[in-house]
Amino acid sequence: MRKELIAPCGMNCCICLAYLREKNKCPGCRGSDKNKPITTAKCKIKTCSKLNSKFCYDCNDFPCDRLNHLDKRYRTKYHMSMIENLKFIQTNGIKQFLKQEEERWKCPDCGGVICCHNGICFSCGLEKLKDRKRLYRWED
Ligand SMILES: [Zn+2]
Repeated sequence: MRKELIAPCGMNCCICLAYLREKNKCPGCRGSDKNKPITTAKCKIKTCSKLNSKFCYDCNDFPCDRLNHLDKRYRTKYHMSMIENLKFIQTNGIKQFLKQEEERWKCPDCGGVICCHNGICFSCGLEKLKDRKRLYRWED
C-alpha cells in the first residue's frame, strides 16, 4: 500500500472495489480522472476548495457535513471510518497508518488484499467464488 492511494477524505483506495477490480480499474482518488467512474471523478471532497493540505483534517470545518455523511455510510455498510482513519494519520503519521491498514485488510489465506466493499480477497477469493458457482450449477 502506498500513501498516494490514501484519499483526502481518509479513504484507502487500495481496498476499494473500483481500484481492485480488473475491468475499468480506477487509479485511485489522487490518480488521473481518465477511466474513472463519473461519481469518483466528480467527488466533491477531493475537489473541495477548502482542502488546504493533503488531507481533510487540516480544514477548519473538519469534519464537515459531507465527510460526516460519507463516514456514516461507510461505518454502517463497510465497517470502516474515514474520520477515524484521518485522526489516526494525524496522530501517528501516514507510515503507521499504511502498516495498520496492510494488517487490517490482509487475507488470512494468501496475504492478498481484502476489498472493504464486498469482503472478498481479490487474490484468492474471486477464484473461490468461481469454484463455488461451478459447484452449485446443478441445473445444467
Ligand atoms: Zn486471499
